[in-house]
Amino acid sequence: MPKRKSGPQKRKKMVDTHFAKTPKNERRARASVPIVHDPFSRKKPRGRPPTISASTVIGRADNCRYQLKQAWKQLEGPLLAAQSEDEVKAALESRASAYASSYVPHQVADILALIHDKQFPKDSEARVNFLADSLGGRPNLTFRSSRDVCARERAKQRAKSPYQILRHEYYVECSCGYEGPARDGACRKCGAEINLFQNMVWGTDAWGT
Ligand SMILES: [Zn+2]
Repeated sequence: MPKRKSGPQKRKKMVDTHFAKTPKNERRARASVPIVHDPFSRKKPRGRPPTISASTVIGRADNCRYQLKQAWKQLEGPLLAAQSEDEVKAALESRASAYASSYVPHQVADILALIHDKQFPKDSEARVNFLADSLGGRPNLTFRSSRDVCARERAKQRAKSPYQILRHEYYVECSCGYEGPARDGACRKCGAEINLFQNMVWGTDAWGT
């Protein structure tokens, strides 16, 4: 019977073609599926850790500076004497109990490394700043990069003018013929008020942003 003979052969052929010819769009679809890090995996994710913004780093560092400063008088001695993570943890929990949860357990190892860092400063205030600025970008940044980001951000903040604008006026062209700076949001000549709503509707940015 010819049907029986060709049967298995045909089936084999079908399997082969299936492996050889995955439709192009299907292959593309498979390739475009992102590789997502499994949050339950114990393996360290490959590549660079996710990026962190400079404002986050400086925000955390400032917060940390504030907290450490509050507790530093009592904390400094026992913390700097710590030789193990357990001792760092104990120092934070006993001498900075209000803030300990910000550092225990996730930053204990970092703090231990920092207080034994060759660059760890001698001056009390510098010590607080060194710890805070090094920790601000963790774990995304190295201690060094975290301090660099903080230094750059602080330089930027210092470069800003210490003065603030107390008053600003628009430049107006009024139908009365006046052209020049407004006064209290109105034409200086006739007193016609700047219509913010009209400016919005017509697409003129009345706020100068
Ligand atoms: Zn006018």
